[in-house]
Amino acid sequence: MVIGAGVFGAWTAHFLNRAGQRVLLLDAYGPSNDRASSGGESRVIRMGYGPNEIYTRWSQRALPLWNELFSRRRTPLFHSTGVLWICKPTDPYALQTASVLEKTGVKFQKLSHAELAGRYRQIALDNDAVGIIEPDSGVLMARRAVQAVVEDARERGVEFRVAAVASPAGGGRLDAIQLRDGTSVTAGNYVFACGPWLPKVFPNLLRDRIVTSRQEVFFFGIPPGDLRFSAPNLPAWIILSDEYYGIPDLESRGVKIAYDAHGPAVDPDTVDRVASAEGLSSARAYLARRFPALKGAPLMESRVCQYENTSNGDFLIDRHPDFSNVWLAGGGSGHGFKHGPSLGEYVANRVLGKGAAEPRFSLASKQAIQKRAVF
Ligand SMILES: Cc1cc2nc3c(=O)[nH]c(=O)nc-3n(C[C@H](O)[C@H](O)[C@H](O)COP(=O)(O)OP(=O)(O)OC[C@H]3O[C@@H](n4cnc5c(N)ncnc54)[C@H](O)[C@@H]3O)c2cc1C
Repeated sequence: MVIGAGVFGAWTAHFLNRAGQRVLLLDAYGPSNDRASSGGESRVIRMGYGPNEIYTRWSQRALPLWNELFSRRRTPLFHSTGVLWICKPTDPYALQTASVLEKTGVKFQKLSHAELAGRYRQIALDNDAVGIIEPDSGVLMARRAVQAVVEDARERGVEFRVAAVASPAGGGRLDAIQLRDGTSVTAGNYVFACGPWLPKVFPNLLRDRIVTSRQEVFFFGIPPGDLRFSAPNLPAWIILSDEYYGIPDLESRGVKIAYDAHGPAVDPDTVDRVASAEGLSSARAYLARRFPALKGAPLMESRVCQYENTSNGDFLIDRHPDFSNVWLAGGGSGHGFKHGPSLGEYVANRVLGKGAAEPRFSLASKQAIQKRAVF
């Protein structure tokens, strides 16, 4: 049984099904629902991860798996916009990114200040800014992509139900779990892929180890007939020193920008999903500073979502310490979406007793103090 049909649970169900298992996938609100972290419009898939080679390799593995699913379902939900990193020439994260991309054979190009300024005239750059472009990376249409994974899994025999699961009690081998409607369901193994709800389902274990932060996202309209803010003229971008990132105008919904620093802790069931006036005014000011032609652009849409942050940003994928057949899969920490296929494959293997455990994903490695290092 897989509890949670966000990107992590959907791909876990996919790979368990592929391994010949009977799979029941449950979600309290539905696949990639409005409250889920996976429920946003779009998510960046990039290969660069500073020194964190494992995530570069997982992204490399994930992108063809996403594309294989999209092409099989004839639903193109990956936009090959390219991903542009803008940074100081001495930024250690960017230098490490370039060296890992080189080592792992990812296609990328370093851009001098002159090359960057020549190519992206619509961006107001700092005088010392340089760039790294990943031409084959891009953007996944997140909500629809997860729904496609679930639809595909259902057609292949995974059973899906809308149901809310209560926290398991006791220890040892879990025979059954209770649903909030009073019934119970039995399975051989239980994978809890509950994203930002994990600390609510397992408060004693995870209350301090996963912190759910409020994140605001804004879509601004572009000037009529203006192609400077669409791919290939503008890729998805990250300006490292600003902690802002953005996505070009995709499917004519406007440019998306977001501040990546962690917001206040929130409850994913009840958080107010109206963006704050302060957040909007910061986003507007930032847009005017970095994209002067978009000064005063109209707000088309805003969203409030949440990150589920582990202490350093590494995922949490481990067996529950009190139950022999309960697994935890989460801690996406604001960067997990792209890795859905790699994570699903890893979890399915772990549940089925195959493959080695990666120490970085262990529960034991998760601290109670937030010290972000992976993003
Ligand atoms: C604003 C924003 C921008 C982001 N940008 C990027 C990006 O550009 N690139 C990237 O790779 N990642 C990005 N991320 C991170 C990524 O979206 C998340 O890491 C990922 O979606 C987490 O997926 P999940 O399956 O763990 O959780 P979720 O998608 O939240 O899914 C958990 C599911 O569990 C269900 N559930 C919870 N409790 C229960 C219960 N008791 N019973 C039944 N069901 C339950 C919920 O309904 C939910 O559907 C971003 C996140 C946000 C919020």
